[in-house]
Amino acid sequence: MTRAGAPIIVVGGGVAGLATALALAPRPVRLLCRANQGSDTASALAQGGIAAAVDRADSSDAHALDTLVAGARHNDAAMVRWLCRQAPAAIGWLEAQGVGFDRDAAGRLQLGREGGHRASRIVHAGGDASGAAITRGLRRRAQHAWHIQWRSDVDVQALRLRGGTVDGVRVLDSRGRRHDMDARAVVLATGGIGALFARTSNPAGANGSGLALAMAAGARLRDIEFVQFHPTALDIAGGHCLPLITEALRGAGARLQDGPGRPLMAGLHPLEDLAPRDVVARRVAQAQRTDGGAWLDARDLDSDWERCFPTVLAACLAHGIDPRRQRIPVTAAAHFHMGGVAVDADGRSSVAGLYAVGEVACNGVHGANRLASNSLLEGVLCGRRVGESLARLPRSTVPAGAHHWVGRGAELPPAESAALRDLLWQAAGPERDAAGLKSALQTCAAWRKDGWQAQLAHCLLTAALQRDRSLGAHYRTDAT
Ligand SMILES: Cc1cc2nc3c(=O)[nH]c(=O)nc-3n(C[C@H](O)[C@H](O)[C@H](O)COP(=O)(O)OP(=O)(O)OC[C@H]3O[C@@H](n4cnc5c(N)ncnc54)[C@H](O)[C@@H]3O)c2cc1C
Repeated sequence: MTRAGAPIIVVGGGVAGLATALALAPRPVRLLCRANQGSDTASALAQGGIAAAVDRADSSDAHALDTLVAGARHNDAAMVRWLCRQAPAAIGWLEAQGVGFDRDAAGRLQLGREGGHRASRIVHAGGDASGAAITRGLRRRAQHAWHIQWRSDVDVQALRLRGGTVDGVRVLDSRGRRHDMDARAVVLATGGIGALFARTSNPAGANGSGLALAMAAGARLRDIEFVQFHPTALDIAGGHCLPLITEALRGAGARLQDGPGRPLMAGLHPLEDLAPRDVVARRVAQAQRTDGGAWLDARDLDSDWERCFPTVLAACLAHGIDPRRQRIPVTAAAHFHMGGVAVDADGRSSVAGLYAVGEVACNGVHGANRLASNSLLEGVLCGRRVGESLARLPRSTVPAGAHHWVGRGAELPPAESAALRDLLWQAAGPERDAAGLKSALQTCAAWRKDGWQAQLAHCLLTAALQRDRSLGAHYRTDAT
């Protein structure tokens, strides 16, 4: 195949990559990811669902306002308005792809409520198994789409640049073989960075490897200090990637408590347990330090656990906790990256031929803090927008001349990786200050030559130090 006829390469088999690949039809697409059946995607783990103002009493303007308030108005307001207006149509599109959302006896969509939303507008599927249902539906479509060629056992390790334009990728397959592939354009849909922190709700592969590739290619990054911490992951001693305890449980009446059983959020915020995630996450972290731990009491819940919360029930039981009879120990955990590769509304990065979409990208829609359940929505809508815009890319123009490869570089050795995760958690977790950030930067600087993860962490710490005021999820205890 000539380079002019090369496929568009989409890296990532989560909701953003799948939506992009489907929307590219009829252009040939090569979809690359690391694991089969979406087992390494954050998308498949999503519990709460997908936000959309579908109720008559609700409106896309109200959804947009809640998004802007959650994002501390650091958002791109035009992107927010676009996303919220398109949300009901995204639900319709997902249903057309075979995703069955939960409905009541009258056939109406069941709507949940999560922190920061002033209306019930979270559409869900399979109770708290929404992400699994959505990715299963999209995966089936993609597997039957003739324009998509799928490889699910490869790690993309380098990008090829020719005349300043990205026109290929180098991958390592599961048998340790290297392959170089031509690309008409490359779309990174590689997810977030939660796994760089000691405690996370993300899968282990969400370590920012796509972000590191974009950095190596010289792409501009944006807002990378903004990381959302979820207040309620299951607190497993020594655990790194922790099961999430969905906020929908608090929406259904579960309450946070400290060790002796006192309400954790009483008097702290008008919305108490459903206050914005950063507020609750900081209180949970504080209770872990000083009040005998943080617990979620869901024992009095008037819900059918098997139908409404099968994922949480199974995760708790697997760790010897029956949430119907016992309080659930919880911890704050790195959950969502608002920052990422700086892109425009069509996913274009600052490097020609390189695009980004989903959690790895930053188009400004989430501002300084993401509103709950807006990210699956972003993955679907922005994925489709990027795919549709790339489908119009002329086939003929390809850059000429010599090429060179830019890669992430060496991996940090396991012991240093674990130390880096602790370092980031302590210095750039739910609470940050200049002294902690400066000291972490010094340690990190010494590790930079040993692995790309330390280089990425160095960038995040630098951005967090430079932003010397609290904003959204970035909380500076020394300058609030
Ligand atoms: C536990 C949990 C619950 C959540 N609940 C919700 C929710 O209810 N509602 C909501 O809106 N959002 C939720 N989120 C956030 C949301 O799930 C994610 O933001 C979103 O799914 C990210 O989608 P993505 O396609 O960008 O990335 P992912 O779904 O993470 O997919 C990343 C893909 O990139 C591939 N990849 C990465 N690096 C490479 C590489 N170097 N080479 C090859 N392939 C690579 C991976 O294999 C994977 O296929 C939740 C997140 C978590 C972790």
